[in-house]
Amino acid sequence: MTTTVTMRIGAERRAGTTTFDSIDPYTGEAWATVAEASRADVDDAVAAARAAFDGGEWSKLSGRERGRLMRRLAAVIEEHADELGLAETRDNGKLLREMGGQVRSLSAWYEYYAGLADKIDGRVVDTGRPDYFGFVTREPIGVVGAVLPWNSPLLLLTFKIAPALAAGCTIVAKPSEQAPVSILKFADLFEEAGFPPGVFNTVSGASREVGEWLVGHPGVDRVSFTGSEITGAAVAAAAAKHLAPVTLELGGKSANIVFPDADLAAASNGLIAGIFAAAGQTCIAGSRALVHADVYEEVVARVAERAARIRLGDPKDPETEMGPICFPGQHEKIRRFVAQAKEQGADIVGGGGDGGLGGLFFEPTIVANVTNDAMVCQEEIFGPVLSVLRFSSEEEAIAIANDSRYGLAAGIWTADIRRAFRMTKALRVGTVWVNAYRTLNYAMPFGGIKSSGFGRENGTEGLHEYLQEKAVWIETTGATRDPFVLG
Ligand code: NAD
Repeated sequence: MTTTVTMRIGAERRAGTTTFDSIDPYTGEAWATVAEASRADVDDAVAAARAAFDGGEWSKLSGRERGRLMRRLAAVIEEHADELGLAETRDNGKLLREMGGQVRSLSAWYEYYAGLADKIDGRVVDTGRPDYFGFVTREPIGVVGAVLPWNSPLLLLTFKIAPALAAGCTIVAKPSEQAPVSILKFADLFEEAGFPPGVFNTVSGASREVGEWLVGHPGVDRVSFTGSEITGAAVAAAAAKHLAPVTLELGGKSANIVFPDADLAAASNGLIAGIFAAAGQTCIAGSRALVHADVYEEVVARVAERAARIRLGDPKDPETEMGPICFPGQHEKIRRFVAQAKEQGADIVGGGGDGGLGGLFFEPTIVANVTNDAMVCQEEIFGPVLSVLRFSSEEEAIAIANDSRYGLAAGIWTADIRRAFRMTKALRVGTVWVNAYRTLNYAMPFGGIKSSGFGRENGTEGLHEYLQEKAVWIETTGATRDPFVLG
């Protein structure tokens, strides 16, 4: 029995004139029938968001009232966390043991930004002119078009919409065709929490056109995109046609760097967490391990030993440590990268196969003795493949880590606090973890540089993406001025 999921446009649930299937990567079978949006559906969703923003009930709420609704949403999320977590597991194969907690944790994002919703202050400015009083207000930017990838749909959606709601914006979200169900179901929670219609709308589709229609829509005031580098460039170009500002959260090829003075057990565990959690299907995957020559063999042996024991299986089983890859195209891409590394002479220390499970499984794979110019070190694989590079000095580690067109994140493993500070400064990335990897929360700004994108999500920085300043000048004397002079 498949479940049927609809879009949410204003107060209406819309089934779409056609549908597509969402496939469970573990069973290989369709488990949900999903609405396919037409161009008219996208137009209607943007119109519903516009109506809610321009004069609708939502636009009249104070920050405190928006915050109150967001807190109710946080409570409703907790009530539905198990169901939503399971929907993500069935859509993308990520572990239920991770997803349940991840969905439950989203309430903290809505509570954090609910607390900021009534603190959106302006400021009074010294205009330098005694006859003018000047002040600046910060206003919501308007209708937000949010486009999401498949790997953590609700978490990445929340990075965008929790601050957007706090700012007073309205939203049209487009989930990935590979994992649309959780976001479409999530839209129903807005009604349950008491939000007016039109604040959060969804459009879904198997074709890339639905995303194109949304980001190219002249009624969208800001585009917020999370996905691949190539799509991100297309999205930015489409948004530029109607001059909508864009936030881009794109891919990575992050370095996880182990110095010889590190706690090697902790560092090896950090390398495992960086690349094999979520089967490497995360933007922040630490897919390049940079290991000092003095400890290279030991670290590779430790990581290989633990990787060989990673339990592959049903992502719904709490004992499973790695589920399947999300869809066949992604599985094939990973397979090709590993085959090519092998052809080019790299050592495949462990993995490379399907673990005897067939289907979309891919074993945790370690590619050793490669140099940074290899494809496996330059391209984002988005799978459980760790390239292990060797370095001999701090300068060399910095040079290798920064020799990437991406700049999303990096990890450093060292007991030397001075080295840790030097490294955090030298690494050209948006996030650095010291003696840690793969931690995120609502208060820490997140985002990349270079081909990993621009703009920041989370923290107070994330709120600014959805606000714009208005400068107000008030003449205080009633004097008449020379109309031909700037003044
Ligand atoms: P993708 O770029 O293929 O698709 C992302 C979304 O864009 C999907 O909803 C897709 O339907 C839509 N889309 C495709 N073409 C479009 C177009 N021309 N116009 C508008 N929308 C379009 O990415 P993916 O494969 O779903 O996700 C994996 C990628 O996402 C990886 O590169 C990963 O690193 C990145 N990612 C980044 C972050 C981050 O925060 N930096 C987080 C997670 C994933």
